[in-house]
Amino acid sequence: MTAINFAVIGYGGMGSYHIHNIMPNENERIHVVGTYDISGERQQISSQHNHKIYTSLEDVLTDDTIEAVLIATPNDSHKDLAIQALKAGKHVVCEKPVTMNVEELDDVLKVAKETSKTFMVHQNRRWDPDFLITRELYKNQQIGELFQIETRVQGANGIPGDWRHELKHGGGMLLDWGVHLLDQLLFLVDSRIEKVSADLSYILGDEVDDGFITYIIFENGVRAIIEVGTTNYTKLPRWYLKGTQGTAVIHDWDLSGEMVIESGKKNIQAPKPIQAGVGLTKTMAPPSEEATETLPLPKASAEYDTFYKNFYKVVREQAEPVVKNEEVRKVMVLIEEIFKAAKR
Ligand code: NAD
Repeated sequence: MTAINFAVIGYGGMGSYHIHNIMPNENERIHVVGTYDISGERQQISSQHNHKIYTSLEDVLTDDTIEAVLIATPNDSHKDLAIQALKAGKHVVCEKPVTMNVEELDDVLKVAKETSKTFMVHQNRRWDPDFLITRELYKNQQIGELFQIETRVQGANGIPGDWRHELKHGGGMLLDWGVHLLDQLLFLVDSRIEKVSADLSYILGDEVDDGFITYIIFENGVRAIIEVGTTNYTKLPRWYLKGTQGTAVIHDWDLSGEMVIESGKKNIQAPKPIQAGVGLTKTMAPPSEEATETLPLPKASAEYDTFYKNFYKVVREQAEPVVKNEEVRKVMVLIEEIFKAAKR
């Protein structure tokens, strides 16, 4: 097994996370030679980790020992960096969002095809345990057929960092967290989209969205609400899933939650009306005790290789990529549709 020699372009938050937290898990397959960052301060920090420090992109691209690069720079630079790296004969791992829009992505994919180099996007949240549980529920129907998926991430810290506040760098939450949640959704639901409605929020007064809500109807009948917020001082569950025989909730990344399903028992007493506020309701009364069962969430793990294990097999053994460029493109098409729907 010969490890793939990598140079990391952009040694900021995510570039360093790859190097120190993800790539070491694959050290037989992935070897980090060095880093290139336009910031002298980041070069200095990287040098403390015994990386080779490249001081120009050209130095990276003309280094014949480098087989692949990871692009972990602000979103507006992905396209040009990817095209230059591919043309220099390097394989490319690119951070999400792959590019600013579909047109830019098509330019990159054209060059990847011409050069026959691997171009793969780091849609890492396909391996998130909460998503894997949702996928398990969707596939194996523990709460019946899922027909409503609500997926949310909410915080109260506003838009982080510097470039994420600016349009020209591809800032905003739809291009940030939105890409993850939409990638998960399209990886889950294998159906064409019938309708998209959306609203972006600008509560903090930035030129980019600080959150959004979108409602997507798929042709197979599944409905999804996707919401990202950065001004939520208390938050809704990470996942709320409705199936034909039950409801599941995954509260957070700690995987706390449960599923409540129909017990299927016969001769169940009708729910009794309850006092609700200053009124009376039977519709919203809890079901009688025998009518439902509360169960722990199912366990789930990915039945596909981790990102870099797969990348290695794609490069060395021509395996199928676990993140396919057609899938990434579909997410970018949907993002453009959400921007348009929000304007409408
Ligand atoms: P960051 O600001 O922390 O780091 C970016 C780094 O790139 C900085 O050190 C900056 O100096 C450097 N840089 C800027 N332009 C450059 C260029 N042309 N060449 C070389 N270096 C350059 O940003 P970040 O949070 O690390 O985000 C970087 C990318 O990673 C973004 O695309 C972001 O969306 C993505 N990201 C992905 C995840 C994930 O979970 N997949 C998480 C966070 C960020």
